Amino acid sequence: MGLTLGLDVGSSVAKAALYDSDMVELATAARPVLQDRSRAGHVEYDALAVQASVVALIADVAVHAGVTPAAIGAIGISAAMVGGVLVDSANRPLRPAINWEDARAQSLIEGIVAQDPSALSRIFRSSGCVLQQGCTLPVLAALAATEPEVVARAHAFVSLKDHLRAWLTGDIGADKTEAAVGPGSAERRDRSPAMLELFGLGPLAHLLPTVEESEAVGGHVTPAAAAITGLRAGTPVAVGAGDVPCSVLGAGGWNTGRATMILGTTAMVGQSFAQPVFEPQDLGLLFTLPGKRWFRAMVNVAGTMNLDWALATLAQDLAASADPFARLEERAAQSPIGAAGVSFLPYLSDSGIIAPVIDPEARAGFAGLAPRHRSQDLLRAVYEGVAFSLVDLLDLTGFSGDRIRLVGGGARSALWPRMIADITGKAVDLFDGREFGARGAALLARVAVGELPDIASAAALVPPLRATVLPDRSCEAAYALARQTFRQHRQRMLG
Ligand code: ADP
Repeated sequence: MGLTLGLDVGSSVAKAALYDSDMVELATAARPVLQDRSRAGHVEYDALAVQASVVALIADVAVHAGVTPAAIGAIGISAAMVGGVLVDSANRPLRPAINWEDARAQSLIEGIVAQDPSALSRIFRSSGCVLQQGCTLPVLAALAATEPEVVARAHAFVSLKDHLRAWLTGDIGADKTEAAVGPGSAERRDRSPAMLELFGLGPLAHLLPTVEESEAVGGHVTPAAAAITGLRAGTPVAVGAGDVPCSVLGAGGWNTGRATMILGTTAMVGQSFAQPVFEPQDLGLLFTLPGKRWFRAMVNVAGTMNLDWALATLAQDLAASADPFARLEERAAQSPIGAAGVSFLPYLSDSGIIAPVIDPEARAGFAGLAPRHRSQDLLRAVYEGVAFSLVDLLDLTGFSGDRIRLVGGGARSALWPRMIADITGKAVDLFDGREFGARGAALLARVAVGELPDIASAAALVPPLRATVLPDRSCEAAYALARQTFRQHRQRMLG
């Protein structure tokens, strides 16, 4: 059996990983993804620059594994979900692509709700998700309202992973995991005509491509794409899935009865069910997973993004060091539990928050600052604020188990897993391998080409356990106090 390539293009970092037939991660590579946040409420990126990064990633990962790209036997693609790329019939972007964090649809949504106060609850009852402004349908509706002449020239409005697949294979399509959160129908794992109508998109439904199973073959690398990437022409490419479903699958979280925390650019906590779960009502997100599972999740829109911001603004002297995050957490660890009374509310976003409450106006901030505080207190407060907000989200899911699976870039930190174990009193499992989104995408590709019989078999190939961090009971009281302070500050800020 050949090598399988998994691609996972996040909002801040694009990653590639190469796997052998035992799903051993042979090599990984990463390249930054730039978002243009210069206009308040708009978050856009250059889809052609992402393509160029993917070309570089394929070369990088092949070099790291000591093979040529032509040795790759199958490809799975995952990327940041929803938002979208408006393309012409040759899959060329007609305007900058829109990231899921984009908030340009806010006033349009307010207009819909003014006309129909039950609209948001109807959306939740269909998709299992509170509506985010950056979802496919609101973004397309906002573009249709503000840039009708560009939309009139469009052939399709596709998600990033689908744009990349179309570029590699010439085949344009969508997958069930993204159609269902569009918002669509979680139960039917598909788009919903009622949701299209709610956003006035009936006349533009033709821009949304056919929905396929994530684990199907979605096309084959074209000679043109082969010439650019060094891949073999004809290499099968799976339909793929959004980055959350792929990360859940890749991290072993598809299996029921465990909590999975994904601490990436965005942070998310949830668990899988064999049926769609719509509780708690009007809160959180429901991700349709490949293989008839659903992942009930609570999201803090900003996860490690808070740390990237802290590094860039509060610890600029460390940014150029060899291992900036290791230096950053050394500095943060100089501050005691509770960050000497400073709390950080980790709602660093242009679009507010959707949990623990829905508040488009919420923003990040420090609270409790006094003249005595030093930079290490602020840094520790950033780590703690993210950890406290994640644990609050875990509580909202009603999870009562005693083990948490922690994945995402933040799981590479030494400080965060320990904090989460100490705050929750639960064991935190960490896994070998770096790229679980890419791993999930690769698993989809292996099912697509018949190397694995189905998604359940793919999900059974859980990644190897790297370490388990057990709670240190001696820290419990100090964290409980710090968490209380955090919650008081949050209460004051969010009302
Ligand atoms: P994405 O959610 O965009 O797919 P990842 O899950 O790969 O991204 O996470 C990338 C983020 O991980 C980076 O933005 C960085 O802030 C964070 N990160 C990487 N290494 C560490 C570390 N050692 N400690 C804390 N955070 C880290």
